[in-house]
Amino acid sequence: MTDRHDVIVIGAGIGGLTCGAYLSKAGLRTLVVDKNSFLGGYCSVFKRGKFTFHAGPEGIILGKEGFVTHGLRELGVEKDIEFIRIEPLDRTYSCGMEIVTGTNIEEYIKSLQNYFPEDRNSITRFFDIMAKVAREVTSPSFEPPKGLFSMIKFVRRFPTTAKYGRRTFKDVLDSFFKNQRLKFMLGFYPSNWLGIPPSELMAPWAAVVIGLAYMEGLYYPKGGIQKFSDCIADGLKKHGGELMLAKAVSKIIIENGQAIGVELQDGSTLRSKYVVSNADVKQTFQKLVGEKHLQKEFTDYICQLKQSVSGFVVYLGVDADLKQFDSHINYLGEEKEADWDEYHRTLRKGELELRGLGIRIPSNLEPSYAPTGKSSVILVSLAPYSHKNNWMIGSEGARTEQYQSLKKEVVDRMIKIAEKVIPNLSKHIVVEDAATPLTFERYTWNSEGAWYGPRINQKMPAYITPVKNLYLAGSNTRGP
Ligand SMILES: Cc1cc2nc3c(=O)[nH]c(=O)nc-3n(C[C@H](O)[C@H](O)[C@H](O)COP(=O)(O)OP(=O)(O)OC[C@H]3O[C@@H](n4cnc5c(N)ncnc54)[C@H](O)[C@@H]3O)c2cc1C
Repeated sequence: MTDRHDVIVIGAGIGGLTCGAYLSKAGLRTLVVDKNSFLGGYCSVFKRGKFTFHAGPEGIILGKEGFVTHGLRELGVEKDIEFIRIEPLDRTYSCGMEIVTGTNIEEYIKSLQNYFPEDRNSITRFFDIMAKVAREVTSPSFEPPKGLFSMIKFVRRFPTTAKYGRRTFKDVLDSFFKNQRLKFMLGFYPSNWLGIPPSELMAPWAAVVIGLAYMEGLYYPKGGIQKFSDCIADGLKKHGGELMLAKAVSKIIIENGQAIGVELQDGSTLRSKYVVSNADVKQTFQKLVGEKHLQKEFTDYICQLKQSVSGFVVYLGVDADLKQFDSHINYLGEEKEADWDEYHRTLRKGELELRGLGIRIPSNLEPSYAPTGKSSVILVSLAPYSHKNNWMIGSEGARTEQYQSLKKEVVDRMIKIAEKVIPNLSKHIVVEDAATPLTFERYTWNSEGAWYGPRINQKMPAYITPVKNLYLAGSNTRGP
């Protein structure tokens, strides 16, 4: 048993790396351990043939003085990474409309106003409110009120959040707009990126997505998404922190009610003063800590936590240059009365509905992702883990023939939809792969392949846990 470390962080996802880098900077001897042989968890890339694909994030909300920019600066790595603004943010096809969200938000607002004249004035007011709430809640001094006196101060300092903060996004959309299709289009990013239907999503969360992504832009690291994780790992190393890859933690060692280190799958043990888990919260407590070290009330709480959404993703290498298309395209179908609340209800029943398809061409952002004259394409949809009895896997998770053919059926359906925007796409495919929610689970050990940790509309786990010297980091505590 070695005890060279003050802190062991389980998981080198973006949450574990960031936490580890900050702790190293604070002078603690920190080790970050991950079961994978690569860094970054979801924030990573992989190769198929000569094509590279991002596994998770398709863009990062930096914010001019937002917490990402601030964090990179604090870790001393701000100058080691460059970002390009994704321009336009996206092009959305829906019910015969084609709407571009560009740097110039006024243009976007104008095109929405042309398509939805009955909601003309409300559109401008809506974006103004969203931007104000987003700026207030992401300002470094933001703190929710704790008592009556602080409420008075809060209302003075954060007036827009005070007015809209306790309302659901659906409530805000309904109070602003008449046209259902407009509400559907504006609800796409918040309800897909956060995995929560508008009726369950508190307005400030939606405001952060809309206010910051639409107004301040979405960015992609030069060199690819892996650069972002690598850069934070450099921040960790710069401050003396260490990384250990391809080592799974099988147990958090508890002695006299406190965490004193971890046991690895190979049987070796590492001792530390503190343990931080960036691993899935259910895995952390149910498996790594074990129920015998926890009070029943807490294990019941962990057990009933609902996981956020997962999805189905198709990765294509195509022998065509797709530079004439934007890197981020959304196809939102042709139904006039579409509604995200109903869509999420369908997903939660385990049914797969391909209503909001993201068509991404990452090689248009990062040319090294595909050979010259070719392109990498990603098709993304939310999808339930429980679909057709967990995707018809066999006993002990075996990827049966039924699993493979179900997967192929969904791949073909998604390609067919994408062809409405990129004609003849199927004729140019030279590399094809896909991920089901089970694939996401296999790579990250996140329960149910959850993309964003537990759903953010419930009491989220706190950083501080009931086990002394054991802490949590990453999407387990704050969502995506
Ligand atoms: C398809 C997709 C698209 C997304 N798009 C965006 C986007 O555009 N913008 C955005 O900001 N976010 C996006 N997200 C969300 C974002 O990727 C996640 O919120 C974020 O990456 C989560 O980071 P994390 O560190 O909390 O967890 P993870 O990335 O899940 O990392 C957890 C790490 O812990 C490791 N681990 C688990 N158990 C063990 C163990 N027992 N021993 C050792 N290691 C272990 C895993 O291997 C993994 O590396 C997207 C996610 C997905 C899947």
